[in-house]
Amino acid sequence: MAKILGIIGGGQLGMMIAEAAKNMPKYISKIIVIDPTKNCPAAQVGAEQIIADFKDEKAIIDLSEKSDIITYEIESGDSDVLKSVEKNAEINPSPDTLKIIQDKYLQKIFLSENKIPVPDFIEIEEIEQVKEGLKKFGFPALLKARRDAYDGRGNFKIDSENEIQKAFDYFKGQKLLLEKFVPFKMEVSVIASRNTKGEIKTYPLVENIHEENILRQTIAPARVSQEVTEKAETIANKTMQVLKGAGVFGIEMFVTQENDIMINEIAPRVHNSGHHTLQSSETSQFEQHLRAILGLELGGTALIHPTIMYNILGSKSFNGKYVPITIPESDGYLKMYGKEISKPARKLGHVNIVSQKNETIDDLLKKVELIKDKVTTQPIH
Ligand code: AMP
Repeated sequence: MAKILGIIGGGQLGMMIAEAAKNMPKYISKIIVIDPTKNCPAAQVGAEQIIADFKDEKAIIDLSEKSDIITYEIESGDSDVLKSVEKNAEINPSPDTLKIIQDKYLQKIFLSENKIPVPDFIEIEEIEQVKEGLKKFGFPALLKARRDAYDGRGNFKIDSENEIQKAFDYFKGQKLLLEKFVPFKMEVSVIASRNTKGEIKTYPLVENIHEENILRQTIAPARVSQEVTEKAETIANKTMQVLKGAGVFGIEMFVTQENDIMINEIAPRVHNSGHHTLQSSETSQFEQHLRAILGLELGGTALIHPTIMYNILGSKSFNGKYVPITIPESDGYLKMYGKEISKPARKLGHVNIVSQKNETIDDLLKKVELIKDKVTTQPIH
């Protein structure tokens, strides 16, 4: 019988999961999301909404009583509360997997114990440990919040001795870790999936270009050698084998100067670097996630068309309503997330520029340059 799907978070990821769910009426009859913003993106595509904070215990209990199966679009959910409602609804990825992943320190311990390469790191409780760590790692190094950090917001790069105090104070008593700086050649990621029966499938390696710590562009496939691709995909597969969670995971990695691979971090959810799959691949990451958590056979992950995904981010210059963005179809597949207000660097939409008639990545990069101005947000006066 078709199931009721609960999603914690109704932003763009919840929205695109909901859209995929609507195409699977045989398996999913209804979608309910928890999100604090009235008429959140997922609600705009037909999900019922419980207006509450993602961590609101009462709302999570309510969702679990109304749903057969629960998933999430954000990793900052309260894993203990989720664990306590497992009797009401099946939760995937499991709260135990979430608990490890949502804490960057526990995640890195877990990966190192499983012999999966990560940058050197240490746990930080006192400022003295930062000083000790810097003696070992050298400058620069990154002080990171263990939890609730995304889009680089929880990182402080320490370049010299006299920044140590400032960096430590920046986090105001949060739990921290210190990480060795990796002078990477490239940032890459693998979208990986594992269904409840243990079947694993990974998508081809993609290249990610960040601006001020926020993903700006994903190039599928990554412009690396076959050897690097294989290394990264092997590490992604190994990670999925040990992780045991069901669902789609975004595995972010660094390619080092020596062409080695290190995991930067894992997101236990569909991932921005997988948005290209909506048009480029046999199965979108959103459908794949649903297939994984429903225990269906996973879909094919082949990249059929090379594609560049370009994120539409709110302009730095203003907060507020913005002029609607449109582009001709020939420029690419535009997906706006229905957010009313633009804020600096807020993710408002994306464009997938898909190769046609054997266009190369270089051709697609030129096309990206041509649309940048058209998708820049302008205030409504
Ligand atoms: P994070 O939020 O931890 O994924 O970090 C955001 C961005 O900071 C990453 O995408 C990298 O560009 C950069 N970064 C994170 N950790 C390191 C590291 N150990 N060495 C160099 N750059 C890093």
